[in-house]
Amino acid sequence: MSAAPTQLFPVCNPATGQVIEEIQLDRVADVDVAVRTARRALPAWAATPAGERAAILNRVSILIAEGAEEFARVETQQCGKPIRLSREFDIPVTVDNAAFFAGAARTLEGKASGEYSALHTSTIRREPVGVIGSIAPWNYPLNMAGWKIFPALAAGNTVVIKPAEITPLTTLMLAEAFAEAGLPDGVLTVLLGRGPDVGEALVGHSGVDMVSFTGSTPVGKRIAEIAARGPRRVHLELGGKAPFVVFDDADLEAAIHGAVAATLINGGQDCTAATRAYVQRPLFTKFVDGVAALMETVRMGDPEDPATDLGSLISVAQAERVHGFVDRALTAGARAACGGKKPEGAFYAPTLIVDAAQDSEIVQDEVFGPVLAALPFDTDDDGLALANDTRYGLAASAWTTDVFRAQRASREIAAGCVWINDHIPLISEMPHGGVKASGYGKDLSSYALEEYTTVKHVMSEITGVARKDWHRTVFAGGHHA
Ligand code: NAD
Repeated sequence: MSAAPTQLFPVCNPATGQVIEEIQLDRVADVDVAVRTARRALPAWAATPAGERAAILNRVSILIAEGAEEFARVETQQCGKPIRLSREFDIPVTVDNAAFFAGAARTLEGKASGEYSALHTSTIRREPVGVIGSIAPWNYPLNMAGWKIFPALAAGNTVVIKPAEITPLTTLMLAEAFAEAGLPDGVLTVLLGRGPDVGEALVGHSGVDMVSFTGSTPVGKRIAEIAARGPRRVHLELGGKAPFVVFDDADLEAAIHGAVAATLINGGQDCTAATRAYVQRPLFTKFVDGVAALMETVRMGDPEDPATDLGSLISVAQAERVHGFVDRALTAGARAACGGKKPEGAFYAPTLIVDAAQDSEIVQDEVFGPVLAALPFDTDDDGLALANDTRYGLAASAWTTDVFRAQRASREIAAGCVWINDHIPLISEMPHGGVKASGYGKDLSSYALEEYTTVKHVMSEITGVARKDWHRTVFAGGHHA
């Protein structure tokens, strides 16, 4: 039987439209080969001492750091993101994430062993889940691949990962770094392909023990449905619509600068980006004027120029999609205090929308572009209620100098992360992951390491007595014999 033909796929630079490289896509049949390979590699990798797994992750961290300039160049070319962001954010964060999980690999622990019955000692074993099928998005390709791969390998699992087909290059470079670092064959496999064929075949494969997905909420729901047929464990990092709540005692300059940075990072193609600014009425006009003025200073242009603040979006289609949201909002009566027009190609200028209705799509749905909607509120109750009024719950921020307001916001906003007087920074040591339609499960931190383990209870009889009292509850005869 002849194999299905392979397909070449052009990976393009969205800023120029030029093809960077043609990659060969895998076929659905290749998924089976990859998963079988990962299963074969599993027993030896799971039995590898934590210190040896950590050493490989540490070497990978060093190799990414040594190749940082090349990683940054390729990331910028395939995504259109500014080289400054790739150099100062995507790559160093990934270096640190790898180093963190190298250390974390050696810290897995359970609760204390003990005699919870008079007859037994109980202990907890943390074991790898098995073969992890991972699917990653295009917005931070290397960083998201790292979030999937590092904790899973640190905990002793094997991984088959499918990056987004439009941004596979730095994930392939990461796999090369793992090979150079001495990762045994089969422990990590990169599958190249589209979601509906290769992606679904991976998620539905009976040899996959857990599916770990980062991407949009609709695709996450589909993946959870397919995985439920196993059933197999699912980890979902989905979309966001982060609120940015400015109380009337906030440091206005900090809030304005914070809002512009948190809206425009990665062209707004960031699941935690600020998208809805709720500003208490006394500060509203000053906030809008300040954000609009600062957005006007942003330099949009060639992503490879270190002076560029805002590169292109991921594709012309994405820029058109973003403009569709803005256009419909303006048609419905909202106003653009800044931007609102679509430049050529895959670019989109910083845009601030005011006078949009709370229930309109630009306030409720994920735009994934450099667009902020600003709305006023009166009481603290109103501001917090508006912040919670979308289906998402990934991240949020509250801006105030009042400690009680800050504490209340952190308690009452439903999100996986609430920043106080900042918005965006993440650290390897602390968890990232959402609630509501933003998914479930944690990336980063020791919580992520635990996600990729199972908890096994081992209960050992300690008396050596052959005929136990409790047998009487099952068969009285044996007990009286
Ligand atoms: P997407 O859901 O379109 O695609 C993500 C990945 O899923 C890609 O690799 C794609 O090929 C694959 N895929 C698509 N359809 C599939 C299917 N039917 N079966 C299996 N796999 C399939 O998302 P995207 O456009 O690449 O990324 C942007 C989205 O990711 C945004 O919604 C963003 O909020 C989200 N995101 C979330 C986080 C987080 O940590 N919560 C981080 C980054 C991005």
